[in-house]
Amino acid sequence: MLIDLSEILSLEGKTQVVEAPVSMDSFQSKLGTFPIVEKKPVSIRITNSGKKVLKLEADGAVTVAIPCDKCLKDVPTTFTIHLEEELDMKASKEDRIKDLDEINYVTGCSLDVEQLVHNEILIHWPLRVLCKENCRGICPVCGMNLNEGSCDCDQSVPDPRMAVISDIFSKFKEV
Ligand SMILES: [Zn+2]
Ligand SMILES: [Zn+2]
Repeated sequence: MLIDLSEILSLEGKTQVVEAPVSMDSFQSKLGTFPIVEKKPVSIRITNSGKKVLKLEADGAVTVAIPCDKCLKDVPTTFTIHLEEELDMKASKEDRIKDLDEINYVTGCSLDVEQLVHNEILIHWPLRVLCKENCRGICPVCGMNLNEGSCDCDQSVPDPRMAVISDIFSKFKEV
């Protein structure tokens, strides 16, 4: 959803409140595409503090299904969105680039709620996702989820370093 900031920008001292629905159904990043399984509208509060400065407050929650690092089972992960930011609407695009301003969700007079939510998820993306602390992962041979039972596979995968050593050994014998 795009929020037009031009009206509030002309009303010094006033506050505008918007319940912005989140329209995206998946979160996409370099890491891949992840379905959004639950979302709440984002409460946006914009206050005109004068001198073309807007105070922005955003609150919401989005739940993304992220596969467990070990067994790949989807883990519903909730991202709480809470943001407070001052938007200097006097700043030109050039000024913002110069100041290394990372507010990429405001273009001209419109605020892109989807971009704001995307940023918040990206910033809080977990380093590691596990379905449970002691997840047993999947069997490297048959792919069975070892949390759901055990299989009879021989999981003693030969160490590749040992293979190199035995290779050298056999060459030595040939001399
Ligand atoms: Zn797991
Ligand atoms: Zn197996």
